[in-house]
Amino acid sequence: MVKILNYIDGRLVPPASGNYLDNIEPATGEVYSHIPDSDSQDVELAVQAAQKAAPGWAGQSIETRSELLLKLADLIDNHLEELAKAESVDNGKPISLARTVDIPRASANFRFYAKAIINQSTKAHISEDKGINYTVSEPLGIAGCISPWNLPLYLFTWKIAPALASGNAVVAKPSEVTPMTAFLLSKLCMEAGFPAGVLNIVHGLGPNVGEAIVAHPAIPAISFTGGTATGKKIAGIAAPMFKKLSLELGGKNPNIIFEDCDFENALATTLRSSFANQGQICLCGSRIYVQQPIYAKFLEAFVAKVKAMHVGDPLDENTKTGAVVSEQHQEKILHYISLAQLEGGKVLTGGHALNPQGRCKNGYFVAPTIITNLNENCRTNQEEIFGPVVTVQPFNTEEEVIALANSTPYGLSATVWTQHLQRAHRVAGALKAGIVWVNCWLVRDLRTPFGGMKQSGIGREGGEEALRFFTEEKNVCIKL
Ligand code: NDP
Repeated sequence: MVKILNYIDGRLVPPASGNYLDNIEPATGEVYSHIPDSDSQDVELAVQAAQKAAPGWAGQSIETRSELLLKLADLIDNHLEELAKAESVDNGKPISLARTVDIPRASANFRFYAKAIINQSTKAHISEDKGINYTVSEPLGIAGCISPWNLPLYLFTWKIAPALASGNAVVAKPSEVTPMTAFLLSKLCMEAGFPAGVLNIVHGLGPNVGEAIVAHPAIPAISFTGGTATGKKIAGIAAPMFKKLSLELGGKNPNIIFEDCDFENALATTLRSSFANQGQICLCGSRIYVQQPIYAKFLEAFVAKVKAMHVGDPLDENTKTGAVVSEQHQEKILHYISLAQLEGGKVLTGGHALNPQGRCKNGYFVAPTIITNLNENCRTNQEEIFGPVVTVQPFNTEEEVIALANSTPYGLSATVWTQHLQRAHRVAGALKAGIVWVNCWLVRDLRTPFGGMKQSGIGREGGEEALRFFTEEKNVCIKL
């Protein structure tokens, strides 16, 4: 059985305590590897290694840093199959999704920031005959990066890549639920020839390892992606220490379908935006609003398509819907479905656990679920479920649907389906969401700033925003 190790000071090392946790394959319910149950002692060693490495890394030319990141991106591509299988086993997601989305996007993150750092420019402001100001960006020193389980390698590298590119050493923690691809990444860093201590990966539980990173006085910036409740806890520790904070948190995203939409496209994409990765993408739409004239037609076609979805072994090439990430998460999703029924919701399809036969008979699967007959104020429509569960509700007017869409504490993303150009702009402008997709979903340009409004987070990641987050800007003014 594989024993995962921490990556500290350029070496793979066991946890200081010698303790390990079980890593369970969600599709089978069986333990398939062991993961370090690290604690603050390991974080301390990682910080010491990062402190030693940071000046040298910051002092490297940007070409050298860029070349190393490009080398790592190439190695990820070369190990695509191994990484995709690891991610599928770890997370329960279909291997086809890991192969076509998660892993290619992880190498794209390193490639993007390797190039972005080369093309970064310096600002200068000339105040006529008074003086000339120029702005210098300096790395912060050490960055703390904490990521969730839903897109394990993609979100892990989304933080690490800009932090490293801009000259910081990193202490990172992947989710304890899905540690395998981060472990494989540490081996690839060694193969690429990363200097010792530049990237340190400490595995273990959030309250032990994550909190030790957040609270460490030598780490001035925390980039976190995860749940809103955890984000609040992290902000409570980091804010009084005046740390830089980037929080990418939960969502309860509306998917608005107007009667003048391209029906077939809206239907097919809504299927994907509702159930991709078993609904465990922070950007999945979980509240579907359909304009009254096409409500019945949409619902009938949507239910038929969802009923026909095949849920099965994530390692089967034909599987489009795999297991949810853990037994605990399966229980949470099923609890929300029961709650929806108590709230008066009508389950049109799904609503129960599933047990595919064979290898996956003890795995954690949930049938894709559609619920109607709920109002916007109920808990089902207000709280993030993060599973294959959507509600569908009719609406009449543009004003009405904007109010419905904005009625939760979250504001991560939204999707609008309409062929009416002015309406598309009007509605997109009125929605309180960090990203609004019109007639599409999950189309991403890494240059664009990314992040949520309201309780979906603070700060923006992506593009130059991320490079700026991981640096301190200093202004130099010279008298003319
Ligand atoms: P969690 O908040 O439970 O965990 C995220 C990470 O934080 C994990 O590595 C976790 O470790 C760690 N952690 C847990 N407790 C603490 C703590 N007290 N201090 C520091 N770190 C801690 O989120 P999930 O992993 O369950 O991920 C799902 C959530 O992530 C959803 O809410 C989803 O919406 C959100 N998300 C947001 C995205 C965005 O871009 N806005 C993108 C993707 C997901 P451990 O695993 O050991 O608990």
